[in-house]
Amino acid sequence: MRPAEQAAAESARGFMPPDEGLALWRAASKAISGPMLEVGSYCGKSACYIGPAARDADTVLYCVDHHRGSEENQSGWEHHEPDLVDPEIGKMDTLAIFRRTVYDAGLERNVVAVVGETKVVAPNWQTPLGFLFIDGGHGEEPAADDYRLWTPKVRVGGTLAIHDVFPDPADGGRPPFEQIYLPALESGEFEERSATGSLRVLVRTSRGDG
Ligand code: SAH
Ligand code: MG
Repeated sequence: MRPAEQAAAESARGFMPPDEGLALWRAASKAISGPMLEVGSYCGKSACYIGPAARDADTVLYCVDHHRGSEENQSGWEHHEPDLVDPEIGKMDTLAIFRRTVYDAGLERNVVAVVGETKVVAPNWQTPLGFLFIDGGHGEEPAADDYRLWTPKVRVGGTLAIHDVFPDPADGGRPPFEQIYLPALESGEFEERSATGSLRVLVRTSRGDG
């Protein structure tokens, strides 16, 4: 990653430690062709790591997020940031900051926001993906939905990166580990390539439906 890009990513708001972000960029840089997609963008931090890889490969990173925050981002929860609430409607809105972050990083050509609920977007998504990053809702149901709806779209040879995977319950919530990481490995269709902090990088080696 170029130093200026790394600096932009590190200064962006969000939840991606620098070492995991670099690992994310590395994984995206190695991905096979096809568009890239992330579920869960927040203010655009992870997009600043994946975006430069998309640009270098002359492809696009689609960023799916309703921009209303996850459960743990809502008022009263651990990861709440009060200035991200639209006071007139009382709901979170991270879209404007996401947009500005992507602009500042010079990535508007290659990073495209898809604003909506992941369950609404996924069924209409037909294009096979070279790279998929899942970092959306971390509840049991949202994590299971993202696994079920998005991972079948990864091409053979394509990459599945998952954030906030904590094998030890003492380190964090279970759903990304139990509802995404384990099922992917247990399907026999994905193999693990690297682990950095809570980031896991898997590659699709086959697909059950032929
Ligand atoms: N990748 C980000 C952090 C993502 S936080 C970073 O690097 O900082 C999780 C994001 O998932 C939030 O922005 C939230 O709005 C989004 N999200 C949660 N559940 C969702 C759902 N069901 N549909 C769309 N987006 C969702
Ligand atoms: Mg995360």
